[in-house]
Amino acid sequence: MNAIYLDNNATTRTSPEVLQEMLPFFSDLYGNPSSMHTFGGQLHRKIEQSREMVASLIGALPEEIIFTGCGTESDNTALMSAAESFPRRKHIITSRVEHPAVLNFCQHLAKKGWRLTYLPVNNLGQLDMNLLLKSIDEDTALVSIMYANNETGVIFPIKEISELLRERGILFHTDAVQAVGKLPIDLRTLPVDMLSLSGHKLHAPKGIGALYVRKGTRFSPYIIGGHQENGRRAGTENVASIIGLGKACQLAQQYQEEEMQYLSTLRDRLENGLLKCCPDVRVNGDVNNRLPNTTNVSFEYIEGEAILLRLNEYNVCASSGSACTSGSLEPSHVLRAMGVPFTAVHGSIRFSLSRYNTNEEIEKVIELMPPIIKELRQLSPFGRDKLSC
Ligand code: PLP
Repeated sequence: MNAIYLDNNATTRTSPEVLQEMLPFFSDLYGNPSSMHTFGGQLHRKIEQSREMVASLIGALPEEIIFTGCGTESDNTALMSAAESFPRRKHIITSRVEHPAVLNFCQHLAKKGWRLTYLPVNNLGQLDMNLLLKSIDEDTALVSIMYANNETGVIFPIKEISELLRERGILFHTDAVQAVGKLPIDLRTLPVDMLSLSGHKLHAPKGIGALYVRKGTRFSPYIIGGHQENGRRAGTENVASIIGLGKACQLAQQYQEEEMQYLSTLRDRLENGLLKCCPDVRVNGDVNNRLPNTTNVSFEYIEGEAILLRLNEYNVCASSGSACTSGSLEPSHVLRAMGVPFTAVHGSIRFSLSRYNTNEEIEKVIELMPPIIKELRQLSPFGRDKLSC
């Protein structure tokens, strides 16, 4: 039985078109792009074509794109670059709901003497812009706020934030790993200084990312060695994956509008089906401003893991905001920051869709869920009086 894969914010399938484009670079075209000979050197041009495709998707110039090993590396590089480029400024502002690629690197900087401000969010997962502005002082080196949240899909007001920070001359980085390919982004009209993206979230393979650095922005490389990427990221290029990322960006750009429409229709169908399937179900986050493919739903009084395990028996893949499945022992820091009640955090499931999901799959999940929820609620220690489902 084929999997019903609804965990696309964790990773996506590499699209067949992308794979096809990559294959020659594992066989005939295996040279090193830095070589003097044509066999290797010809790959340099291929990399540059790919860079143009990535740049085009987000309205950047090709020379503003640095290929990296993943979204995490892009985030770490942006933060470290800001810290090193402004050595006298020791303050960084971020939010409480960032991905660990930002949060844990901030903790690392805090241990080295940087002062961190973690902005709270309200119960819809939104930021307080006044608080952001109040937090800025003459010591602020960087503000790093994600474009869209990986757990709830909530989109932050990046245009407004970037314009306010531009007026104040503060460097701004956004982790757009979940947004690139899912939302239109045009850096010609969006005054962001640095932006992270990751291939495996938009149907390119794992292990390739990019960091956008606006022309003229002070930059300090994180990985030091050879002269690749114009001296901004050393290491022999992951040629096949760079080619794959370029192709994935080209496809995303070509189909973006219809894909957004398709995904939000499918997601809404799933969400409405789940909300109707039983009582005490809630959607987490601002439903009017989120990624078209994501819904984060809490089934109160049961454990998200238990739901995932039952879904797994039917080969349905999703993820939970509660604990061990995500490799941590803590319940979701995002839902806790939003003040989601304990029983709802523990019963939260994230469904994230892709272009490869079908109506039939969604109908199947809507059909599977009610008996699963009913059975688990009967076993639940949290709310035996709430077993009306
Ligand atoms: N930032 C966000 C918002 C993410 O969702 C992820 C991955 O889940 C990352 C960063 C890390 O990206 P990568 O897995 O490419 O390191």
